[in-house]
Amino acid sequence: MKEKPTPSWTLETLLVHGGTCQSAGQPTGDSGVPSVQPIYTSTTYVHANAVALDAAFSGTTAAGEASYVYARQGNPNASEFEQVMAQAEAGIGAVAFGSGMAAIHAALLAAGLAPGAKIVAARDIYGSSIGLLRKIFAPMGVQVVLHNLHGSDAANLIRQEEPDIIFVESISNPLVKVIDVDAISAAAREVGAVSVIDSTFTTPCLLRPIEHGFDLVVHSATKYLGGHGDSTLGVVVSAKRVLLDQLRTTCTMLGAMAGPFELYLVVRGLRTLSLRMQRHCANALQTARFLQQHPAVERVYYPGLPDHPQHELATRLLACAQYGGLLSFELKEQTREAAFRFMDALRLCLPATTLGDTWTQVSYPPISSHRDLTASERQHIGITDGCIRLSVGIEDINDILADLDQALRP
Ligand SMILES: *Cc1c(COP(=O)(O)O)cnc(C)c1O
Repeated sequence: MKEKPTPSWTLETLLVHGGTCQSAGQPTGDSGVPSVQPIYTSTTYVHANAVALDAAFSGTTAAGEASYVYARQGNPNASEFEQVMAQAEAGIGAVAFGSGMAAIHAALLAAGLAPGAKIVAARDIYGSSIGLLRKIFAPMGVQVVLHNLHGSDAANLIRQEEPDIIFVESISNPLVKVIDVDAISAAAREVGAVSVIDSTFTTPCLLRPIEHGFDLVVHSATKYLGGHGDSTLGVVVSAKRVLLDQLRTTCTMLGAMAGPFELYLVVRGLRTLSLRMQRHCANALQTARFLQQHPAVERVYYPGLPDHPQHELATRLLACAQYGGLLSFELKEQTREAAFRFMDALRLCLPATTLGDTWTQVSYPPISSHRDLTASERQHIGITDGCIRLSVGIEDINDILADLDQALRP
C-alpha cells in the first residue's frame, strides 16, 4: 500500500487520486488490491473478536484507522469522499449527506440554529434553503432575517443584526452575484456568529471559503462535484472540531447519510472536476460574450464580464480568473411566451432545472427556482419575465452557440 495523500499534493492531483488505492484505506491482501475503491453495500461489519468490536464502536481501531460497525454511522465510501473533500476545502473534516438540502439542514443545526437563535441569510439564496428556514426552522422559534448581502453595507447589516448564524452562497442564483467572503466572515467573527456558506456554484476549484475565514462549507454534490446528472448527494466541510463532531452526530441521529452507490459515483466525478470546471468556465465566458452582442438579448449576467457589478471582486476571489459555469440573460422580449418559445426551440441544450452537469442546461426561474414568488416580487430582486439561466456544459462551444443562436431567432 502506498501512503495516504500528503498535503503536498495539489488540488488537481488530490481529486484525481480520490478513491484509488493510493488514497482509500483499503485492506492489503496477497491476492491484490483493487486500484479503485469498491462499493461497500454492507450494513454491518464483522470484527476479529469482541474486544475489536468494542473498539470499533469508538470509530477508530487501536492503530487509529477508521473502523466501521453499522452503515448509518459510517462507511468506507463515505470516509473516502469526506477525506478528499476536507483536504480539497482545507477543512479539518467533512461529513457526507444524502442530499444538498440534508447537508444544509445539518450545517445549520451544527451552527446552533435552535429556538431563540437568529440567522441572517442572503436574500437570494437557493429557493429550498429559504423554504427550509421559513417552513422548518421559523416554526421552531428561530428568527429568520433575509438581507441583501451583496452591497457594500453587508458588514454593517451584520453588525446591526448581531445574528448567531450567517448563511450565504458563494455565487447567487440566477443573477450570479458574488459574495465578498472576506467581508462577511470578518463581520461574523466580530459579532460571534458562526458563518456558513453554500459553495455549490464555485466548487473548491474556484474558491475555498475556509481560507477566507468561513466555519462551514456546504455543497450540493448533486451538481458539479458529481457532475454527471446521476447522483444526489451533499457534504459539509468544517473548519472546527466541535462543529464537525456535531455534524457527525446529526448525520447519524437523523439517518441523513449518503448511500454507497452515490458516494462511489461522486468520488468518480471528483477525478475530473478540475478539468470539467476549466471547460465549464471557458465555455461560459465565450457564451456570455456571444449573448452580449446578440440582437435578441437585452443583457447578460456573468461575473467574467467587465460590466458585471462584482467583476473586480470575482477576479480577486476566484482562482485563475475562472468565473463559473453559470450565467443568466434577459431576452429583449421580456415575456413568458418568448421564454417558452426559446426553450422549446432548443435542440442541444436541455431545458432542465438542475445545473453543473456535463451538458448545457437551461432553466427559466419564474417557473422553477423562483416559482413561489409573485411577478412583482421577482421584479423587485431583478428577475424579469425574460430571464433565462444557463448552466453551460462542456460540449464543443460552437455547437452550444449555434443552438442558442437558432433558438433566439424569431
Ligand atoms: C441544488 C442546490 C441545493 C440543494 O441540493 P440537493 O442536492 O438538490 O438537495 C442547495 N444549494 C444550491 C446552491 C443548489 O444549487
